[in-house]
Amino acid sequence: MADIIQLLPDHVANQIAAGEVVQRPSSVVKELLENAIDAEATVIKLIIKDAGKTLVQVIDNGKGMSSTDARLSFERHATSKIRNAEDLFHLHTKGFRGEALASIAAIAHVELKTKQPQEEVGTSIVIEGSEIVSQEVVVTPKGTSISVKNLFFNIPARRNFLKSNTVELRHVIDEFHRVSLAHPNISFVFYNNGSESFNLPVSNQRQRIVNLFGNKTNEKLVPVMEDTEVLKISGFVGKPEFAKKTRGEQYFFVNDRFIKSAYLNHAVASAFDGLLKNGWYPSYFLNLNVDPQSIDINIHPTKTEIKFDDEHTLYALLRSAVKHSLGQFNIAPVLDFERDPNLDTPYNYNQKESDTPVIEVDRSFNPFHEERNTLVKPSSYRKEPTSSWESLYVGLESKGTKTQHDFSEVHFESDHHSESLFVDDKSIDSGQTTYQLHNKYIVSTIKSGMLIMDQHRAHQRILYEDFLENLTVKGASSQQLLFPLQLHFSIQEIEIIKQLKEDLEYTGFIFSNLTDETVEISGVPISIPESEVSIILEQLICDVENEVPDSNFSITDLLAKSLAKSLAIKNGQALKKSEQEHLVNRLFACKEPNVSPANRTTFVTMSVDELDKKFI
Ligand code: ADP
Ligand code: MG
Repeated sequence: MADIIQLLPDHVANQIAAGEVVQRPSSVVKELLENAIDAEATVIKLIIKDAGKTLVQVIDNGKGMSSTDARLSFERHATSKIRNAEDLFHLHTKGFRGEALASIAAIAHVELKTKQPQEEVGTSIVIEGSEIVSQEVVVTPKGTSISVKNLFFNIPARRNFLKSNTVELRHVIDEFHRVSLAHPNISFVFYNNGSESFNLPVSNQRQRIVNLFGNKTNEKLVPVMEDTEVLKISGFVGKPEFAKKTRGEQYFFVNDRFIKSAYLNHAVASAFDGLLKNGWYPSYFLNLNVDPQSIDINIHPTKTEIKFDDEHTLYALLRSAVKHSLGQFNIAPVLDFERDPNLDTPYNYNQKESDTPVIEVDRSFNPFHEERNTLVKPSSYRKEPTSSWESLYVGLESKGTKTQHDFSEVHFESDHHSESLFVDDKSIDSGQTTYQLHNKYIVSTIKSGMLIMDQHRAHQRILYEDFLENLTVKGASSQQLLFPLQLHFSIQEIEIIKQLKEDLEYTGFIFSNLTDETVEISGVPISIPESEVSIILEQLICDVENEVPDSNFSITDLLAKSLAKSLAIKNGQALKKSEQEHLVNRLFACKEPNVSPANRTTFVTMSVDELDKKFI
């Protein structure tokens, strides 16, 4: 038989390599920023459009390239940074694989302009899908400018796979943070869709952190310093009282390179042992300097993982350094674990007069403990607009004020979704009783047998549909706050809030002021306890950032899901009988009662027949 193996043409090989190197616009941002740093630039500009989908451009004032090098830079395995395998163990540059530009040029429209400082003129190269379109001599400033346009123009499947602009921008900003935090000695400017998002002057690390995350950050930082033979540690950890509900600001830099390490993260977290409540995460910005020979960064093409020769020692050193700092700065001893969680909320009460009453915070707020008598009496559904939790169930009126006994009938008439569900055998028995199992499941009798419902998921479904209705149809009422809440967020978190502002207003939020770092809220949805606002917004921002993969993603939907998740009664919460019944009834008044907003089963049924079989 004839030989069948062939070498792949370069442009195909490049496209395959691109799959490894370039996952999304932020990958391009990373590679271009790193190249600029390797070129010893002191000022680096990043320009993006449409979250980098249309354009990622990086302009640097570094050493530039000769015209031959400019052409060669797009070849695969073309690098000026290493010459032999030995060099891999003495790396002082970010790049070394010589793959990035070749990969990027294989899947985008790329324009390069570059000039070496000593030259009069520079070189311009246009390359599209690995094909050189033009190479010319141009007048251009010293340094290099690379524009990457229309990413994945020739791989529609990859392009379609990109997330919403909000999510892709999030990734780009994350990358920008990582690179700029590691290099405070370089000035960075970031333009997003024509407006300047960050302008970071040359500074020290503390100032860089503050410039990125807002002035308030300064007082939250505790320096960490340790100098041993194997390892130098420098940087900052966030004071425990400023810990976050989400793993936001956690950065390790090893030899100026951002890395992820669950192991080292554990070392830091364990230094905070006893200082943080469960589910809270410390912030940290830590630089580890080690001998390049003792690490192997050649593990992953995108190079955020690293292998250390002696992880155990590193772990121990890091943990003790952080512990030492927390102790030295008197953090640990002054913490009073039993204090009112009220004090932990980052609200700014400075507008409050001294004799005003303290606002009590009840973290275990249970909507069902209030006015529970109104829960099941249909006549009480027409409630005062200001009554506390019931707005969770806004929209109920529109669904009819029927009693629970005729509720299945309502759905036969009203909604085709429910028809499949409410075929006779699943309709609620008129002699219905409910029982709560392990403070988690509600067991209820139905005509055909029994129904077991997950209380948390069921409540999420109910709230989700209510919020969606408010967001799309009617808009909810707000509860005016006596003292506006001042919440502090980082610049990019504020960006997200700005994007969500209009939708949030539909749910009942009233924003009285939005600056670069603070949000002032003068009204909140009736369903949201004031004390929970900051956590709910944090969770929301986190959800937007990490958008659960969902083909028909929309911000409204995400908002409704996030709020529902935050506000739904939790598993472990004991419910009164009337509350249980109410939950069952409300669930089955939903359009899609059988799944939670995250598509998880909300209830299961078991027929008497099935039970009978078990007793044979
Ligand atoms: P690597 O960075 O791994 O060497 P790249 O594909 O990213 O590979 O870049 C290839 C080469 O192009 C680099 O080794 C460098 O010589 C040159 N180069 C890339 N970007 C720049 C830049 N901004 N300034 C100067 N030279 C650059
Ligand atoms: Mg590179």
